Amino acid sequence: MKHWILSVAIVAVVTACATTTSSTGRKQYVGGVSEQQLNQLGAQAFVEAKTKGPLSTDAKQGAYVRCVVNALIAQLPSQSRGVAWETAVFANTEPNAFALPGGKVGVNTGIFTVARNQDQLAAVLAHEIGHVVERHHDERITRQMGASGILQILGAAAGDYGSAVTQGGGLLAQAGFLLPGSRAQETEADVVGQRLMADAGFNPEQAVNLWQNMIAASGGRQPEWLSTHPDPQSRIQELRGRASTLMPSYQQARSAGRTPKCG
Ligand SMILES: [Zn+2]
Repeated sequence: MKHWILSVAIVAVVTACATTTSSTGRKQYVGGVSEQQLNQLGAQAFVEAKTKGPLSTDAKQGAYVRCVVNALIAQLPSQSRGVAWETAVFANTEPNAFALPGGKVGVNTGIFTVARNQDQLAAVLAHEIGHVVERHHDERITRQMGASGILQILGAAAGDYGSAVTQGGGLLAQAGFLLPGSRAQETEADVVGQRLMADAGFNPEQAVNLWQNMIAASGGRQPEWLSTHPDPQSRIQELRGRASTLMPSYQQARSAGRTPKCG
C-alpha cells in the first residue's frame, strides 16, 4: 500500500516539473514541489529560525523592517502579494538577511551597520525578495530532487501533514533550501531587486552604496552573496549602470506618491 502511494506520488511530482522563463529571460527548471509545499517549507524554516533566535526586542527596528518590506511587496504581482508576509529581526551582529517562500523575511541587527538608511535596507531586502519572486528556492529543490533526494521528498509528500513538516525540516538543509544561490540567481536577484526598490520609491543608486558597505564590512571573509560571484567590483559596476537606467522608474514612483518614510 505504501509503495503504491509512493509511485503515484512520483508520477504526480515528476510530471509537475516544468521549464519556465524567469522575468529576466532565464530558462528555469521548476515545479519539483508544489507552490503550496514550498510555502509550507518556508514557513517551517522561519518558525525554526525564530525558535532558535534570539530575536531582537527592539520594537522600533521591527517596525522599520516591516515598513520597508511592506513598501516593496506592494509593488509585487498580486500572486506574490497574496502570501502571508511576515518579518523578524534577529539579535545577531552578522550583517545578513534572508527571504523565504511563503513571504518570510528575516533580518539580523548587524544589517543596520551596512544598510545605513531606508534605501540601503530596501536594496538588501529587495534582493532577498527577488530570490523568492523568481522561484530560486523552487529551482534549487527541483535540481536537488533530480540529483538524489526524490524518494525522501516524496516520502514526506505522501505522509500525513505532521510528518511532512517534520521531514521537511531535514529536507531544507538537504535540498540546499537555505544555501546561497548560484551566480545566475544572484545576478538575477540583483536585477529584480533593484527594479523592485525603484518601483517602490527607494533610490536605486543606494544599492551601490549598500554593496560597497557590505564589501568593506566583510573584511577578508566572503559574505554569502560574494561567494558565488568572482568579481565584486564588476557587480558594483553593474548595479551602478542599472541604477541610472532605473532613475525614470524611481522618479515616476515618487511623483505617484510612493515616498516611503520608514526611518
Ligand atoms: Zn542573494
